Amino acid sequence: MNYAIILAGGKGQRFGGGKIAKQFVELTGVPMIVYSLRTAEKNAHIDEICVVVAENEERNVKNWISKYEITKVKYFARPGKERQQSVYNGLNVLPAKARDTVMIMTSVCPFVSQKTMNLHYEMIKNYDATITVVKATDAITFSNDGKRVNRTLQKKKIYIQQGPQVFRYGVLMLGHKMYMEDEEYSKMDVTEDSELVLNIGVECGMVIGDRFCIKVTYPEDLAIAESLHPLFLQQERKYADEQNHS
Ligand code: C5P
Repeated sequence: MNYAIILAGGKGQRFGGGKIAKQFVELTGVPMIVYSLRTAEKNAHIDEICVVVAENEERNVKNWISKYEITKVKYFARPGKERQQSVYNGLNVLPAKARDTVMIMTSVCPFVSQKTMNLHYEMIKNYDATITVVKATDAITFSNDGKRVNRTLQKKKIYIQQGPQVFRYGVLMLGHKMYMEDEEYSKMDVTEDSELVLNIGVECGMVIGDRFCIKVTYPEDLAIAESLHPLFLQQERKYADEQNHS
């Protein structure tokens, strides 16, 4: 079985901390989370979906699921304080076996293409973890205190991580448990699922994603996303045509 967890438990503080969390704000007249629901619904590999959402938002999400004719959502889980705990809570409600896969999706990256989704399911045949990346176009500056440069990372070998990611269920569970159960390790700041599995020695494959697949973080990103929407639709149509003719 291939499961997807759609994370919608964030408060969107960087988005302005308004009454509506960013994943529920409308993009081209549709709540942003619906883009992720549609992407997972449409993908032939995904069997069942779990949505991680606060109790007081669940009813709205259920209404959209019905309005937009999403059929694969079978589970709900509650968010944790950090994204990582939300993922763990989602993993815990899935009746998955170790070799099943779980795709981790946000609800704030509306333009994940079917091509990217399908590439993950090809690549996961050879890896236990796959992440989406795009090539960095600028050098990255690493700074511990935000004032002085500690390191400059050349763009040549730098990739920016995007969503989604896919893991063998057992591997991701183990990564989370090793982190939580080790007193010293759990004090370290680990924010990405890929870090959790890399830290237990799992090789992660990279799927090259789309540069237009932006993550809506700040209010201005909404305007950028609105303007990128036609490009996303055009790419999806082109890919669907190519698939039909192959
Ligand atoms: O905060 P950030 O933009 O990285 O959030 C990425 C995704 O994780 C969003 O879809 C957000 O709703 C979700 N999230 C969550 N639980 C948290 C924090 C974030 O489900 N505690």
